[in-house]
Amino acid sequence: MSGKRSSHSDEGFDAVFVGGGVIGLAGAWRAAQGGARVCVLERAEPPAGATNVAAGMLAPVGELSFGEPELLKMMLAAGQLWPEFVAELEAASGERTGHLPTGALVVALDRDEAGELRRRHELQQELGLETEWLTPTRCREVEPGLTTSFVGGVMAPGDASVDPRRLALALVAALRAAGGELRTGTEVVDGLWDGGRLVGVRTASAETRPGDDSVRTLDVHADAVVLCNGAWSGQTTWLPEEARPPVRPVKGEVIELRPREDGPPIANGNIASERIYLVPREDGRLVVGATQEERGFDTTVTAGGVHELLREAYRVLPDIAEMELAGTIAGLRPGSPDNLPIVGRGAVEGLVLATGHFRNGILHTPLTAETVAAILAGTEPPPAMAGADPARFAANPGPFVAQEATKGTSPAEAAR
Ligand SMILES: Cc1cc2nc3c(=O)[nH]c(=O)nc-3n(C[C@H](O)[C@H](O)[C@H](O)COP(=O)(O)OP(=O)(O)OC[C@H]3O[C@@H](n4cnc5c(N)ncnc54)[C@H](O)[C@@H]3O)c2cc1C
Repeated sequence: MSGKRSSHSDEGFDAVFVGGGVIGLAGAWRAAQGGARVCVLERAEPPAGATNVAAGMLAPVGELSFGEPELLKMMLAAGQLWPEFVAELEAASGERTGHLPTGALVVALDRDEAGELRRRHELQQELGLETEWLTPTRCREVEPGLTTSFVGGVMAPGDASVDPRRLALALVAALRAAGGELRTGTEVVDGLWDGGRLVGVRTASAETRPGDDSVRTLDVHADAVVLCNGAWSGQTTWLPEEARPPVRPVKGEVIELRPREDGPPIANGNIASERIYLVPREDGRLVVGATQEERGFDTTVTAGGVHELLREAYRVLPDIAEMELAGTIAGLRPGSPDNLPIVGRGAVEGLVLATGHFRNGILHTPLTAETVAAILAGTEPPPAMAGADPARFAANPGPFVAQEATKGTSPAEAAR
């Protein structure tokens, strides 16, 4: 940014949240409910970031993958919180979130996919998770729009979905109702330090008066700075290198389809195949996701990405061909080295990290919010989140060594 600069200072908060995605908004809401004076600083306007792009699957069981027991533990714990969380949030905000407790059906389109799905189903059964193997006939009773050519499916009745954009807006309303503050169009550009302790952040917001390109900076003081700016958290250059979370952007594209006329919904609940998922919204729209690519901060929607999503969606639900292509969008998941969130005290005093939620940040929202609020209040965080402690990276050599190196679990061990 160019032009004049003016600078002001702000009174202190108990905690300032850098980033107003679902993670920042929910953590701030929970902390405000506990009596903390909180402020969320968001450079855009919610819903933004990955929150604005996510499909909103709440699918700890359907999304189960091998070799990630710690992640599964967190996802199940988060999933259990959702019914109560959503009821409380909708009551506190007066807003609907588009939460649909419809279950999820994962289908196998050929014999290879069926073999893989059977192995996953066996694991789900071993773990005591509620799932059922369904024949094609039974699958089509659940989802009449399914293709006629497939091998079978697994139903996870406890999985659900939410509309992440509506969720974010509900969180904004609930945060404000609880006395919390949200400042939009406000980018955090620097940290404020008292010796080695982080005591707040410096923000910049461009003036919007015609002909005035000045930049206003404002110092916001707080006892704690919660870094919750998603895929951008690894680029926080104002933090010492050893305190930056090891987060990278992982691009994902989704498409949105709209029914052309009033009729029965094309999907009753979440439907997934090995390559894609389809998530219905309350108003009949269908979100199809998602590609996954390592392309830095590129958010271009590509013809190839859209083609892949449409092709695979059509293989599962042929009737999508009749729907209107309502939109395409790409976003950046905050990926961590071991696919686990990074939530806990940071490597400098005054810093709390709440990032790295990768593919499941919407699902993780209630659990991470409770964890952040507990850390800020000095109470015990939920045990299910123990594996999210940023100190696990202290065992690794290289740029992510925490200041006070403690014994941690290496990413490879944690993923087992
Ligand atoms: C295609 C796709 C599909 C997905 N589907 C699902 C799904 O079905 N289920 C699920 O659980 N998860 C899903 N996710 C993952 C989920 O969206 C993320 O894990 C989650 O949104 C992370 O939330 P966040 O608040 O940490 O980050 P974000 O939502 O990215 O929010 C970070 C915010 O920080 C702001 N910010 C950045 N830097 C600064 C700064 N310096 N100052 C101020 N503000 C700043 C950004 O503008 C942004 O609003 C999906 C993601 C993608 C991309």
